[in-house]
Amino acid sequence: MTEKPRLIITVDGPSAAGKGTLARRLADHFGFEFLDTGALYRGVGLSVLRQGLDPADENAATAAAKALKPEILGEPALRAEETSTAASKVAAIPSVRAAILNWQRDFARSAARNSGGAVLDGRDIGTVVCPDADAKLFVTASLEARADRRVKELQARGETAIYARVLQDMQERDARDQGRSISPTKPATDALTIDTSDLTADQVFERALAFIATKMKA
Ligand code: C5P
Repeated sequence: MTEKPRLIITVDGPSAAGKGTLARRLADHFGFEFLDTGALYRGVGLSVLRQGLDPADENAATAAAKALKPEILGEPALRAEETSTAASKVAAIPSVRAAILNWQRDFARSAARNSGGAVLDGRDIGTVVCPDADAKLFVTASLEARADRRVKELQARGETAIYARVLQDMQERDARDQGRSISPTKPATDALTIDTSDLTADQVFERALAFIATKMKA
């Protein structure tokens, strides 16, 4: 019997560009394990908020990162807009990123061993967390397309969403995530960038698959 390939696939990009949808679909397709690394930062942000503390407070955020429990990662409050903002504030703190780095690397290693592969989505997976990954994707879209998708997502969950407000929050989060000195959102030099503004989810998936196939042959 031939051994299953051990493959690490990274999917980075800004929020609401479609990276989560693509990463989950790739993981299903290959039968690999999937890690949404944004959930880890959201978990840290949410736990700081619940303690009534400031997510930008280095001591509070670092303590929360070190004490992060997997149970919080399944909570609906993880997806609230307030949590998104808190996540991007804790994510700019180097000691928070350091606390989460090994968690992510251990996941990738054990998933590759147990399931033949892993798909991780985030901001710095191809550049910092798994720089030796086999196939790196960077999924992006225009700010307007991403804000439009986020509004529809919030409305589908029964939440009120004002386009102008969502757009502004997204712009501020982009600026924080792209402008921070540690692990800013950016494509790895060997990543395939896919702009999803005018593509369907199926088209994005097909492009990603074709790219991964070239890496599997290599
Ligand atoms: O992907 P998601 O929107 O859930 O991420 C929430 C926040 O977590 C991002 O705005 C970003 O600041 C941070 N993040 C990060 N590095 C990652 C994943 C997420 O800094 N690998």
